[in-house]
Amino acid sequence: MTTTKEEIMQSAKDLDVEFIHLQFTDLNGVMKNLSVTYEQLEKALDGEIMFDGSSIDGFVRIEESDMYLKPDLNTFVVFPWKPQVGREARLICDIYNPDGTPFSGCPRNILKKQIKDAKEMGYTMFVGPECEFFLFEVDEDNNPTLKTHDNAGYFDLAPVDLGESARRDMVTTLKEMGFEIEASHHEVAPGQHEIDFKYCDALEAADDIMTFKMVVRIIAQRHGLHATFMPKPVYGIAGSGMHLNQSLFKDGENAFYDPNGKDELSETAYRYIAGLIDHAKGLAALTNPTVNSYKRLVPGYEAPVYIAWSPKNRSPLIRIPAKRGASTRVEMRNPDPSANPYLALAVSLGAGLDGVKRGLQAPDPVYSNVYEMTEEEKIECCIDSLPGTLKEAIDALQQDQLLLDILGSHARVKYIENKLAEWDNYRTRVTPWELDMYLNTI
Ligand code: GLU
Ligand code: MG
Ligand code: MG
Repeated sequence: MTTTKEEIMQSAKDLDVEFIHLQFTDLNGVMKNLSVTYEQLEKALDGEIMFDGSSIDGFVRIEESDMYLKPDLNTFVVFPWKPQVGREARLICDIYNPDGTPFSGCPRNILKKQIKDAKEMGYTMFVGPECEFFLFEVDEDNNPTLKTHDNAGYFDLAPVDLGESARRDMVTTLKEMGFEIEASHHEVAPGQHEIDFKYCDALEAADDIMTFKMVVRIIAQRHGLHATFMPKPVYGIAGSGMHLNQSLFKDGENAFYDPNGKDELSETAYRYIAGLIDHAKGLAALTNPTVNSYKRLVPGYEAPVYIAWSPKNRSPLIRIPAKRGASTRVEMRNPDPSANPYLALAVSLGAGLDGVKRGLQAPDPVYSNVYEMTEEEKIECCIDSLPGTLKEAIDALQQDQLLLDILGSHARVKYIENKLAEWDNYRTRVTPWELDMYLNTI
């Protein structure tokens, strides 16, 4: 069901909405917004609000800075945590060039293009994200600390879990905004939580991930806590992942399900898995886009390190959860919540479809724990590792023509430039680890 301009004008009036935030996401996955008053709403809905694209990281140069925000009318939602009088609402927007064409450097446009390509093959992608995050205490100046407010563990209940009430508030707020929450629970590490929402089509899932992160941060703050989606905030305990459960539907049916196939998976599912595996190293540059992402991808914390798949085991990159029928899906376990969800989903879908198009063969599944295999066993089973650093991932992306084409000429140049600068900034720092290690001994 699509919402019309008139319906939005009417509900904004009925609900006494005073401010409308026009939201979009930059290349680094950071949400930006430009706010207009109710009087400007009609103009905004007509896509006539302009902004300076040169002030947004990775967008355009000064000379060509006028850009337009074109809202997706289906994304209109009122913020439930704002006052009842003078309410605030938001619309998620696509970025357009002054000549009326979609701006190719806009992550949401990049995902839409990939979705369109999938449609041409008859497929619709559905995604169920599992977002993990930490809740930390803040100090007297309101700066985040690494202190967790609880000592609970996986699935622990209140009163041990003091984050419970913050999490409950997050779930209620998300529900008021139209989310269907499937589950929420304490995760393995102290102060770590997870909230899962029901799978939906890829564009909605990416929009939902952005909204989700915003809501979690705001509600945590209202509980005097700091929420972080940093993949590995603390050495020695679990990091935060954002597993992406993916499936393709064709003619209303789950195209990954075949009751007669091996493990009840279809040929399409095996090829999609093969595509993800074939492009795994380059994909990591988008699904694990920060220096810190690679501190999570280490053995011992249920995060993947090896490029392998399994119908059961949790250690490999790809797992096939037990559910079949309409719920048949491929769980990609390396993405983390620092990823730009539009780009991460665009390249994942593209890689999976590439496997389908080229009829790639999935390698044999791995039934044993890859971490317990010897080097020889891994070589025998052709099990390679994910990139160990952001630099390795960017190098792999630069070698992967398919992924570069999906990003398009504008975004790929800016993205790689940004990421290499991030890497260089990190690489040249002298860290506390080095001082501990060398200052006294060398
Ligand atoms: N926190 C783990 C990770 O970094 C995942 C735990 C789980 O399987 O939910 O991916
Ligand atoms: Mg989890
Ligand atoms: Mg999972």
